[in-house]
Amino acid sequence: MTDAGPSSSSGAVGGSGLRSDRDPRLRPWPPSLRERLVALRSRRRGVTCNICGWSGPSFRGVLHSESATCPRCGAIARDRFLYHCWTERVPYRPGARLLETSPRLGQAYRRRMTELVEYLASDYDERAHRADLHLDLQRMDLPDEHLDVILTPHVLEHVPDTDRALAEMYRVLKPGGCALIAVPVPQARTAPPPAPEYHGDRTLVYWRFGWDLTDRLEDHGFETTILVLDDFLDRAREGRTWESGGGDVDPNDLVTHAGPYLDRMVAVASVEQARRLALAPSFYFIVWEARKPAR
Ligand SMILES: [Zn+2]
Repeated sequence: MTDAGPSSSSGAVGGSGLRSDRDPRLRPWPPSLRERLVALRSRRRGVTCNICGWSGPSFRGVLHSESATCPRCGAIARDRFLYHCWTERVPYRPGARLLETSPRLGQAYRRRMTELVEYLASDYDERAHRADLHLDLQRMDLPDEHLDVILTPHVLEHVPDTDRALAEMYRVLKPGGCALIAVPVPQARTAPPPAPEYHGDRTLVYWRFGWDLTDRLEDHGFETTILVLDDFLDRAREGRTWESGGGDVDPNDLVTHAGPYLDRMVAVASVEQARRLALAPSFYFIVWEARKPAR
């Protein structure tokens, strides 16, 4: 392919006097190379599930924390974000003991987690999910300093007494262990719902959490980091809000009242990583990392 110059006789280029068939920049790409480039670009535009490894042009549904569903494992966007937070923030150790409260995903996911770590799944209300352990977060039937990691995906908002649950989580974590707490964050300040609110599986919501969950965690002795997306952190720093809200979230309230918590906020996914995992809009992806200090 050394002499595959264009057949047209466009002559000199600009004022350089270079003939097109001599200038390598002007040679057309061989078809196979062009095809490879197009394929590479489309792969770059595609999405990947970090939980099961599936890749494709897009997930099912819309861009929302409760949608963008993986066609293979059923993970929705917030499942991928919590998993991403775990794999980004907690160094991997095969023997780590991990408790996940009310995991949304089924047996295939649990088997995979069991291969990765010493995995325990628990549930309080077995109407919604089948689980290995029956556990009330406010009164956990586990020894002190038993766990390395706790994942709580959208559970804490269904627990009446937040302080008792946080005290229990602190008690059962080993020193240096951490809880990754995902809750819906519809507004900047924590408040009970103005009217009875239920989530999809008929579970009552007691609390709509805001940034001040950070203070509650710190009151219990946790070292706290708020894990967000790059896009959210930029907006929070610049006070740059969204043109339209999320319906179930007041993103402008979140951005305008983020100031006192900016020093605890860390971006765990770049714009490209978030696009690849279909984590958008960024105000839906907030996880508290609550670490029990190491001795
Ligand atoms: Zn998947």
